[in-house]
Amino acid sequence: MMLTPLEAMELMTYLQDKNLLNPELKTKLQKTVSDYRLEPKYLNARRSYLRKTYTCPFFNFKELGCPLPREIKPYGCLAFDSHHPTLKADSNCYSERDLLIEREKLHPEEAVLNEEIRKKMNLDWEKSPIPNALLDLWDKLENA
Ligand code: SF4
Repeated sequence: MMLTPLEAMELMTYLQDKNLLNPELKTKLQKTVSDYRLEPKYLNARRSYLRKTYTCPFFNFKELGCPLPREIKPYGCLAFDSHHPTLKADSNCYSERDLLIEREKLHPEEAVLNEEIRKKMNLDWEKSPIPNALLDLWDKLENA
């Protein structure tokens, strides 16, 4: 699952409001990056992440399935019901990529907002795996 800067900012704001930006979450995000080799050195030459699969740090973190409310989930997660009783594995988190591309075309204003956030926060990515996106923003916000 990849996040745009806008989705990452919305998720960070939610986590901040819920007092969830704590050392436990940071460790979980860092461990995910490390376990699944999501570090920037594994970026390809076009500075986009290879389509690696990874266990989302939120999956089964505090509760079974995904704890994020629907209104804050990344768009790519909305088609996925992580609380379905037959789903036990993180591999069931997936995106309908074609639908995502179609949705993005319908909302060109988001491209403008993403670019503004990229510039303001000095981000070098357009889309990033969830843990990387959150850690990068977390770091930038702490050092702002
Ligand atoms: S649906 Fe899956 S990938 Fe999306 S935020 Fe929840 S646990 Fe993570």
